[in-house]
Amino acid sequence: CFCQVTGELDDCTCDVETIDSFNNEQIFPRLLPLLESHYFRFYKVNLNKPCPFWTADSHCGLRDCAVKPCSPVIFIYYYDDDYFFLFIIIITSAFVFSEKTREALLDWRKHDDKAERFCVIDDEESPDSQYVDLLLNPERYTGYKGPEAWQIWNSIYEENCFKYDATSHNLVSFTARTFYSWLEGQCVEKRAFYRLISGLHASINVHLSARYLLDDTWFQRKWGHNVSEFRQRFDSDLTAGEGPKRLRNLYFLYLIELRALAKVLPFFSQPSFQLYTGQPEQDQKYKELLLEILNLAKSFPLHFDETSLFAGDEKEAAQLKEDIRLAFLNISRIMDCVGCFKCRVWGKVQTQGLGTALKILFSERQIEALPQSTEQRPGFQLSRQEVVSLLNAFGRSESVAFIIKYLYRPKGDLLCF
Ligand code: FAD
Repeated sequence: CFCQVTGELDDCTCDVETIDSFNNEQIFPRLLPLLESHYFRFYKVNLNKPCPFWTADSHCGLRDCAVKPCSPVIFIYYYDDDYFFLFIIIITSAFVFSEKTREALLDWRKHDDKAERFCVIDDEESPDSQYVDLLLNPERYTGYKGPEAWQIWNSIYEENCFKYDATSHNLVSFTARTFYSWLEGQCVEKRAFYRLISGLHASINVHLSARYLLDDTWFQRKWGHNVSEFRQRFDSDLTAGEGPKRLRNLYFLYLIELRALAKVLPFFSQPSFQLYTGQPEQDQKYKELLLEILNLAKSFPLHFDETSLFAGDEKEAAQLKEDIRLAFLNISRIMDCVGCFKCRVWGKVQTQGLGTALKILFSERQIEALPQSTEQRPGFQLSRQEVVSLLNAFGRSESVAFIIKYLYRPKGDLLCF
């Protein structure tokens, strides 16, 4: 458990409207084109790793759980998911996982730092690892549910050291009231960790409600937002008051990731940092866009004050950092037990992205000490996988946009926890 540092988490300086308009009007419109670039859309993942904890059933038979791989061929047959047509398309430079992109990824490997990972990085040399095109595989409703999905969520929450009563510890069976009264008695880091995981869980469930399979007939599959699915999960009355708390946790996750983006600006501003997109003329353009987003993140007026969480006695803080790192390593291993491959990809992206955000928040001093010259080797590094997952995890903030745009809005101030 990581309870060594204490402090207040409950002070609230931010209102939902500020976050909503900041995200939906300023950050998100800039983030979208960035995530569509070649650099950010390809994520390397090993989907064949066995579950290290139990024998997992595979849901890869579910049509929407399948992952469409990147293909280096010139012609492919493309079966469109949404319409019952068979297309033959010629892959253009926009689609090709080209030789240039391949070279760019090799360039990046030279820059990768093998030290101090917050998440298990899939073995990049393994023949089982593949690049997944995240744009071809959007996070949405897949039909993955039931005891297996619950077992995954249970195990993830257990990483929060919820071992106070092994027999009654079951997310599904024990009452929320018992749980929250227990949680309130816990240290600030445990509560923060719980809220981050719960925020991630909420973000996934908002996504599947906002991109739901509404119509599945032989000639057409229609995707769109499903307000009743959302209400089942988040409406205060239908969830005995739990739903709004879960949405609050989603905003909490957003603030933590936003803070990390603001703090990591000096790393990306280094002249030596390059985005190898595979298209040299695009590298500078996307680096500028990235810096614009990070500067915006820095300008956010109501940043979450994490000093009570991630500071304190140096020895204790180091132990806390190590404990959280180990918890995240375990959570990333649990992802190999997710039977639905598409859920597994996005689960890995998001846990690795959150792990990277925490690594940044724990590395403030190393980031401040980054050398200005290109000659010295910097003490703080991010690998390509970490950069891609950080920005894509933050890109899940489209759930913040979904809540406002399409879905039910609970009354009251969401951010006072
Ligand atoms: P679940 O969401 O499975 O939750 C189980 C229990 O946890 C609930 O009964 C409740 O008590 C509690 N709970 C629910 N939400 C929260 C919260 N935010 N905070 C705290 N406690 C909570 N499905 C898709 O359709 N598309 C996906 O891309 C997808 N990705 C997934 C990724 C992962 C890593 C996992 C584990 C699951 C994923 N799923 C996905 C499945 C989805 O999250 C749900 O598990 C599924 O829809 C079943 O929902 P449920 O209502 O039974 O409750």
